Amino acid sequence: MKPPPFGYAAPRTLDEALAALAAAPGGKVLAGGQSLIPLLSMRLAAPPALIDINRAAELDTLRTGDGGVRVGALARHARVERSAEAAAVQPLLRRALRHVAHPAIRNRGTVVGSLAHADPAAELPAVLAVLGGTVEAASPEGRRTIPADDFFRGPLECALGPGEIAVSAFFPAAPPRTGSAFAESARRHGDYALTGVAAVVTLGEDLRVTAARTGHLGIAATPLVLDLTAAAGSAGDWPAAAAHVRARIDPDADIHASADYRRHLTGVLTERALRAAAADALRRAR
Ligand code: FAD
Repeated sequence: MKPPPFGYAAPRTLDEALAALAAAPGGKVLAGGQSLIPLLSMRLAAPPALIDINRAAELDTLRTGDGGVRVGALARHARVERSAEAAAVQPLLRRALRHVAHPAIRNRGTVVGSLAHADPAAELPAVLAVLGGTVEAASPEGRRTIPADDFFRGPLECALGPGEIAVSAFFPAAPPRTGSAFAESARRHGDYALTGVAAVVTLGEDLRVTAARTGHLGIAATPLVLDLTAAAGSAGDWPAAAAHVRARIDPDADIHASADYRRHLTGVLTERALRAAAADALRRAR
């Protein structure tokens, strides 16, 4: 399959990229190309121009500090997955990234590109959402910080405006006595998940549960974040929390799974992930 014709710009700085985007209304940013190029090749998208940001070295950053991990727009999945510093500050990133596609795709695809692509079945939007992270966007008018809650608008739709480029994403650090886990089910490892869940559990000084949250993928148009603190109670009743999730969600059916199967699977994975996150929190508390 062959993409439709498109213009192409290869700016060397963010400012040049913003100018190129402004000069090509309807143009698309090209980062890792692991989602955009297949869409072009299948002729599901036909932007007039691609603004290839891969030469803008200032976007190729990965920093820890200031209370979290800041991932620049050109940091590839594999770089973030392999970063010991990022894993120490926010372990959920590495846990989720292992489920994103295959190594070859992770070598090229970017974390920020995955967020901008906003696929409801993707892992990283659910991670950003459950952690309460943010995306920083730049435009010729300046910069703005978009909370995850506002960023994901619908399937393949995010809050970035036509002239905006996402320059980084910020994943807050794990607070003290907080553990996390990630679980998903896919037909083959590396495929988009039928359903998946990122769980975060916080314990008090007495080691009782003070907070339990999950971020779900594959079951709604955008990542679904649920506060399960009340459902789980301070003793951590994970089956009750999972039952609450099953009752709360309304997944779609598709050729891969019925709605009932997805609901059941989501409950199973939620209980598993919450249990693992609580065990992780306990390890970190000791
Ligand atoms: P691109 O493909 O370059 O861009 C994707 C979209 O985001 C485009 O609309 C583009 O304009 C926009 N965009 C990208 N960067 C920016 C930016 N900085 N500012 C504004 N807009 C931007 N992903 C998963 O999460 N889970 C999976 O299991 C999974 N499996 C895959 C399997 C296969 C076979 C393939 C080919 C891909 C898979 N992916 C999966 C997608 C992969 O993770 C992509 O890398 C990711 O979705 C997009 O990142 P990218 O850097 O490649 O973005």
